[in-house]
Order: sequence, then C-alpha cells, then structure tokens
Amino acid sequence: MKIIFATANRGKLREASEILGERFTLLTPHDLGIDEDIPETGETLKENSIQKAMYLYERFGCDCFADDTGLEVDALNGAPGVHSARFAGEGHDFDANIRKLLFELRDVPYDERTARFKNVVTLIIGGEMHFFEGCLEGHIALERGGTQGFGYDPVFVPDEFPDRTVAQLGEEVKNAISHRGKSLRAMAAWLKENLPETEA
Ligand code: IMP
Repeated sequence: MKIIFATANRGKLREASEILGERFTLLTPHDLGIDEDIPETGETLKENSIQKAMYLYERFGCDCFADDTGLEVDALNGAPGVHSARFAGEGHDFDANIRKLLFELRDVPYDERTARFKNVVTLIIGGEMHFFEGCLEGHIALERGGTQGFGYDPVFVPDEFPDRTVAQLGEEVKNAISHRGKSLRAMAAWLKENLPETEA
C-alpha cells in the first residue's frame, strides 16, 4: 500500500519505513516531483502538520501523512516551540539554532534546563484525518555533544539516558525513545487495527 510522507529528511523516512513495516511503501514529495519547501505557517504543531498533509492531499488526493516537531524549553517559557526550525532566522540552520539556544540559556543552571520535544502526526487516509502525538522529556545540555542525528540532538539530554545527548545515542536507540517514534508507532498501531490486511 502506497502512502506519501511529507518529508525530505532521509533519517525521518528510514524511521517511518521501519516503524510502518513492509506493508507500506513510503513515497516522498520528491518522488512525486515536488522539491519546494511545503509551507508551515500555523500557530501550533497540529496546524502545521495538518497544513503539510493537506498540501499533499490537495495535489495528489491519496493517503498521506505529515509531522511537525517543536522543542519546548521551560526556562524560555516554552520557546522555541512551533518556531523551532526558524529559531535563529529563516535559514533553517541547525547550528545557528543551537548557538542561539545555548546563548539564551547561558545563565540557567542544568536542573532548570528542562525541555521536551513534542511531535504531532496528521494522517489523511480514505479522505479522513487522524492525529497522533508523541513527546520526549529531557534537559538542554550545557554544551554540545555527539555528531549523530540532526536539529537540536547535540544539546538534548533525554531523561532515559541522562549522561548522553540524543546525538550520542545512535539512530536505533533514538528512534526507540523519540517523540516522532512514539507518534509514528501510535499511527502504525492505528493502521494495523483499522485497515484489515486484505486492504493493503
Ligand atoms: P520539523 O517539524 O521536523 O520540521 O522540525 C522542526 C525543527 O525541530 C527542526 O528544524 C529541527 O531543528 C527540530 N527537530 C525535529 N525533530 C528533531 C529531532 O528528532 N531531533 C532534534 N531536533 C529535531
């Protein structure tokens, strides 16, 4: 069964393919000739994930899903949140975003650097919309550590591994605990329950 995933990120695509299993063939916007950034101008993660999924559904009219993630830092009153990708400006620059985050938290002790990644997946299947959510709790590190992953991974210390950043966990471990992994597994469980195997 073919389903479009609104991403250009190879890591996310691998993660979703593994979680959904062989029953689903994932296509990306690139596979369908779309290489522009899909607009995400909503005020919430849910609005953005709906916007991205609808963008695909309106163009191709077939089953698709999209996700949106935000990093919520308590000492910054929940920022950068829905603006995580553009925290340091329009360029989507991971390095600049981390630099800005560490700078803004420069006077905040480790104990008070609590944060979480929140993720919302919007699935449009059979013309109906469904939502799945996942969260990863942790702290913002005092400095960068590790080279794997992407985005804020080098400065995010998950509660499950308090002596490592996500960028030091490796893809398999990250996917097992990540915010997006949780939403995608919830979606996979829903699909298993609601789409009998004969339809796939
Ligand atoms: P998006 O919703 O995937 O576009 O993510 C928004 C922003 O959140 C990205 O620019 C990344 O900086 C950050 N982000 C999303 N997922 C992750 C993750 O798994 N690890 C670290 N940062 C992430």
